[in-house]
Amino acid sequence: MDFVEHVAKAQLRAHAISVPDGQVVDANNREIHITGPVAVKAQVPAGGRGKAGGVILTHDAPAAVDQLLGSKLGEHTVAEVLIETRVNIATELYLSVATDGALGSPVLMFSPSGGVDVESSADEISQLQLKIDVQPGLDELVEFLSASGCPTPVEEVAGVANKLYTCYLATDAELVEINPLVITEEGEVVAVDGKLSVDDSARTRQPELAEIAADPPATFLEAKAAENDLRFIELEGNVGVLANGAGLTMTTMDAIAHHGGSPANFLEIGGDSYTLAVPALELVLANPNVKSLVVNFCGAFARCDVMTGGVIEAWKTLKPSIPVFFSIHGTGMDEARAMVRAELDIEPFEAMDDAIASAVQAASASRQSTEGQIQATESTN
Ligand code: GDP
Ligand code: MN
Repeated sequence: MDFVEHVAKAQLRAHAISVPDGQVVDANNREIHITGPVAVKAQVPAGGRGKAGGVILTHDAPAAVDQLLGSKLGEHTVAEVLIETRVNIATELYLSVATDGALGSPVLMFSPSGGVDVESSADEISQLQLKIDVQPGLDELVEFLSASGCPTPVEEVAGVANKLYTCYLATDAELVEINPLVITEEGEVVAVDGKLSVDDSARTRQPELAEIAADPPATFLEAKAAENDLRFIELEGNVGVLANGAGLTMTTMDAIAHHGGSPANFLEIGGDSYTLAVPALELVLANPNVKSLVVNFCGAFARCDVMTGGVIEAWKTLKPSIPVFFSIHGTGMDEARAMVRAELDIEPFEAMDDAIASAVQAASASRQSTEGQIQATESTN
C-alpha cells in the first residue's frame, strides 16, 4: 500500500517527528487559512514531484492550488494539494528505514546530501546503511550518523532516526522515507517530505491505513478485470494462463518458467470461473503478447465440467487464433475432457506438465516464426 505525502507526514507527526504546519485542500474544499511564504505540493503517490513541477514555493497559495489541482503528474491526476508553511532550508539530508529482503532485516539508510537528486535506490545511499535488528540505541545511531557525514545537530537527527524506526514498526511499513530531512536556518530538524509504503499483507492489521491507501496505478486491462471482480495482473511473458484458484495459477506460472517460458498474466478466477469465463478469456487474449494459452483446472467442489463448459462457450464466442493446451483433473474431469474433444476437437493432456511444456513450445515457436517473417520482410526491401 502506498500513500500520499500528507498521510505519511501524519504518521511521522504521530511519532513525534517534526513536520511543517500544513493543510490539505481539494476540489470540494479550497478554503486556505495558511498565510505567508508557503510550499504548495501536489499529493500523488509518486516521487520526483519537485522536478516535475508538482512543488511550488510561493506567497500566492491560491494561484498555486489552481495550477496544481486537476493537473496531471506522470500517470496521476492531482486530486489533493498540501499547503505548508515554508521552511528555511540550510541542509537537506536523506533518512529512511526500509525492509531489506536480502538481509532479512530493516535497514536504516542515511545520506548527508538529500533532496531531489537522491532516490532510495541510489548507490551512494546503499553505502550508508545500518542493519537494525532491534530498536537502535541513541549512541549507536549517533556513531553511525557521525561516521556517515551527518552535520550538527547529530543527536537531533539520531532522535528522528530512532522515532522513524518506531514509526516503521507501528505501521508495518516496507519503507518510511524522509527526503529531505531538513536542518533549518534556525537549527531545527524538520521532515519536509514524507513517504510511506506499507506491506500489503498488513491490511487487516492496519485497517485505517488500508482505508486511505492510494489506488495502485492499474493497466487498462487490470482496471477492466477489477470491474468484473477478477484479480488480473499483466506480466511480461507470452504464455496466457487460465486456472482455477490462486495456488494452481501460481503453480502453472512456476511450471511455465521451469520449461523455459514466461507467463503473460496472473489471473485468479476461482470456483465460479464458469460465470466469469468470457471476461476472463477476453482479458487474457486482449494482451497482444499472448501466443499460447494453458487452461489448467483442478476440480474439487468446483466441478471441471462446469468450469470447462464456461471456457468452451467463451472460446466459441471469442474465436481466438492462438493454440490452447488443456490440463483437466479432479471432479468432473471425464465429462470435461469429453466436452473439449467434442466441441473444440482438441485432445486434453494427461499430465499437467506436458500441457504446460507444449504451451511454452508453441509460444516460442510462434515468436521464432514472427521473427522470421520480420527478417524476411527486411531482406526483400
Ligand atoms: P519530491 O520531489 O516529490 O520528493 O518532493 P519534496 O517534498 O521532496 O520537494 C522537492 C524539493 O522542494 C525539496 O527537496 C526541497 O528542496 C524543496 N522544498 C519543499 N518544501 C520546501 C520548503 O518548505 N522550503 C524550501 N526552501 N524548499 C522546499
Ligand atoms: Mn522528496
